Amino acid sequence: MDDIIYPDLSIIILGHVDHGKTTLAKSLTGEWLSKHSEEIKRGLTIKLGYADFTIYKCEEHGYFTEKICPICNKENKPIRKISIVDAPGHESLLMVMLTGAAIVDAAILVIAANEPVPQPQTLEHLVAFKYLGNKPLIIVQNKIDLVTREEAMKNYKEILNLLDKLNIDKNKVKIIPISAINNININYLLEELVNLPKPEKDESSDPIFLISRSFDVNKPGTDIEKLVGGVLGGSLLKGKLKLNDEIEIRPGLFINNKWIPIKTRIISLKQGNSDVEEILPRGTAGIGTTLDPSVTKDDTLAGQVAGYTNKLPPQYDEIKVKYEVIKELFNENEKIQKGETIIVGLYNIISDGVVKNIEKGNIITIKLNKPVLGYKDDKVIILRNINKRWKIFAIGKLL
Ligand code: GDP
Ligand code: MG
Repeated sequence: MDDIIYPDLSIIILGHVDHGKTTLAKSLTGEWLSKHSEEIKRGLTIKLGYADFTIYKCEEHGYFTEKICPICNKENKPIRKISIVDAPGHESLLMVMLTGAAIVDAAILVIAANEPVPQPQTLEHLVAFKYLGNKPLIIVQNKIDLVTREEAMKNYKEILNLLDKLNIDKNKVKIIPISAINNININYLLEELVNLPKPEKDESSDPIFLISRSFDVNKPGTDIEKLVGGVLGGSLLKGKLKLNDEIEIRPGLFINNKWIPIKTRIISLKQGNSDVEEILPRGTAGIGTTLDPSVTKDDTLAGQVAGYTNKLPPQYDEIKVKYEVIKELFNENEKIQKGETIIVGLYNIISDGVVKNIEKGNIITIKLNKPVLGYKDDKVIILRNINKRWKIFAIGKLL
């Protein structure tokens, strides 16, 4: 049976360091995420730093990530294709992008069953995810092979307590004990993923493509005639993009002290692992352009936005924001100070800036180093440097 082309769900795997995120991603998508030879074979998709996987069903034996049922050897039926969003870069910046851009539809939070709950990033990720809005969350209690039944139950209760403390409705959160490394109970996780609702997406507005990677896909020494143009990886937030569309990328290139938008044409499109004629606001996608690959190499255009010329949100060097402190992590009455350097995230654009002015009611004006794009009332994520670490401190809206 034919595979499914378009993913209809984007998920992110969250969790404290060493709790098993990478191991789980591997078990869902196959070993190839980390293998260099496979990387070359799969080309673009791997370089994008994300992976799609298909969930199959065997009528008799349940859900698998393999086409053929490992128990009865019969062909499984493809049920759903899912993208795992895993942009490179600093983890807290990734959270900013995902929280602000709202491109993920659901999250899997990995919690190791052999450690007390919560570990610092377990708490941070859970809180940031809460601010994404009302999105589904699945918690996996990993490394279940390392604990006794009693220890697992104790860990489970600690998780429930944490959800209570953060006012997250625990009846809406599935908690599944697994061992990612031994593939134990992954079938239950797959079943939960299959049952997640299909998110509503706006396909009719002007497209906004959030660039999370950009690169030169040519091997060194390729003949000039055979060179392929620059490639962009990321997600469509809304709208569609088609082959031959003329697009602009903003804020673009910084030349002679000015940001200049980049214009180009789409010459190839990839979604899932397939070449397609149009991409949709689902999962992750790749765009081949006519750009000189030196412009796109090494993620130079990551954190920029593409769309039709003059149809992208307005661009600002300076923004005014009304913010609310994340009260689960900080004292609500703490204030951002005039003269302070902060990091803001709007969509996937992350920029640092200096607070130029503060007003009553938690309103600040920020002079930015790199322009951002946004409409009035768009969500702004604010990071503050606390004890030499950038932390998501507040959520604001653009005034
Ligand atoms: P990440 O930092 O969250 O991406 O964690 P990794 O996936 O890199 O896993 C951290 C360590 O835990 C590695 O040594 C894994 O082999 C190990 N690990 C992951 N899952 C399991 C599991 O289910 N059981 C056991 N015993 N070890 C695991
Ligand atoms: Mg990892």
